[in-house]
Amino acid sequence: MGSWNFSTTYTELPRVLFTPVSPTPVSSPKPLLINGRLAEALDLDSRQLQSIEGVSQLSGNSLPQGSTPLAQAYAGHQFGHFTNLGDGRAILLGEHLTLDGRRFDIQLKGSGKTPYSRRGDGRAAVGPMLREYLISEAMVGLGIPTTQSLAVIATGDPVFRETTVPGAVLTRIAASHIRVGTFEFAASQGDPSLVKSLADYTILRHFPEIPPSEDKYLLFLKEVIRRQIDLVSKWMLVGFIHGVMNTDNMSVVGETIDYGPCAFMDKYDPATVFSSIDTQGRYSYENQPSIMQWNLTRFAETLLPILSEQPDRSVSMAQDEISVIPSKFRSVWLEGMRKKLGLLTHSEDDIPLLQELLTTMSEAHLDFTHTFFYLSSALSTDVTPLEKLSKWLVRWRERLNREGRSEEDIVLQLRSTNPVYIPRNHKIEAALRAAEDHSDVTLCEELVALFANPFVSSDVLNPLFELPPSDAPRYRTFCGT
Ligand code: AMP
Ligand code: MG
Repeated sequence: MGSWNFSTTYTELPRVLFTPVSPTPVSSPKPLLINGRLAEALDLDSRQLQSIEGVSQLSGNSLPQGSTPLAQAYAGHQFGHFTNLGDGRAILLGEHLTLDGRRFDIQLKGSGKTPYSRRGDGRAAVGPMLREYLISEAMVGLGIPTTQSLAVIATGDPVFRETTVPGAVLTRIAASHIRVGTFEFAASQGDPSLVKSLADYTILRHFPEIPPSEDKYLLFLKEVIRRQIDLVSKWMLVGFIHGVMNTDNMSVVGETIDYGPCAFMDKYDPATVFSSIDTQGRYSYENQPSIMQWNLTRFAETLLPILSEQPDRSVSMAQDEISVIPSKFRSVWLEGMRKKLGLLTHSEDDIPLLQELLTTMSEAHLDFTHTFFYLSSALSTDVTPLEKLSKWLVRWRERLNREGRSEEDIVLQLRSTNPVYIPRNHKIEAALRAAEDHSDVTLCEELVALFANPFVSSDVLNPLFELPPSDAPRYRTFCGT
């Protein structure tokens, strides 16, 4: 286990794509959470991270050896409208190489103003940074590609939001922070060679399997689409609502990024929206696949000048890829749903079977996670919490019988596909309150431990499994906090 091993390549890109800038020091850094599991995966010594020097570096008060701090430029469509953005409160310390050569962006979030801050203060609050830490850890446990959280350090400084709240710096780890919005920024500069440089860089860094052929940018587009379909279908299969799928919050490598207003759905309602600013429901649960396609269309547009030398041909190449997204998405999602139902094979009646399930879940306001979790116990008995599904269960068991697999096999599949623990909003809030009000992160640590293994093989249940009280007010989330 060692220390930081920076070897940054982003600085080789044209200078318009970033601005060198250092973090702004904070008053009195104190570690709230340090991710030992992730430190180990990155070949870092977590004791070193917790040392005075380590905490000083994770707060932005001093720079680790070899770091080349910078803020990245990007643009983005926010709720459909194009804007120039950039890291307004984040600073990339550099790219860390693990011993086996894996490369990760190490970014401090909440580390002070940058040239892209506009009117923002460049800071972040303890609550939202711990929330990002908790939910990103849950995503890791669920097997969903995501940026990760290495540490949350309380700064000792207040930040001013609706009220005055304690400040924090989060260390975010990502395969990279190259977004659809980074390509939009490059394309907006009116110089096709900039998009080409960025695409070449991204291919080399993230898609080395793409050969340096004439159609490499088309293959790049296809791969970005494939990963995004994989990601969003995984979100849909666990009831995750990202909440702010602006193109600047969409990583081209297919990791979940930006944990502002996201939340997991309790009762199944396809129109669920948690974000207080999403008044039109643009980023509702059910809209995520079509917004993904909209965002990928913006991405494809940035590649038009380099897809081919003839503009018409580039447009038709891009359209061919974009138009098949809904059918590709549906088949990946359907495959995931079959797994959740314990099925192995395809049958024509799978779609109506699924539709009946989802319609009943929605009409009966059934909890999304509980419903799928209880399927394993409903395999062979009608004494189940899923009594509102009793008619459907008969049909489901008949379908399973046609596959002729052993109950043991089916249970194994159901339990390893349907999580028991998701970040329940009321539990996350309770953990954040304890941390914010009493500087007590015990509950946060307990949640992190559970999220590491959300698929359990027994019915030994933890309070995290409990649903929110039935009279709980509608849950609301906020951006940019
Ligand atoms: P987000 O809503 O987190 O995707 O952020 C959108 C843009 O606002 C990004 O360019 C952020 O860097 C910027 N931003 C968000 N919060 C702040 C802040 N407190 N200070 C400066 N910039 C911010
Ligand atoms: Mg963002």
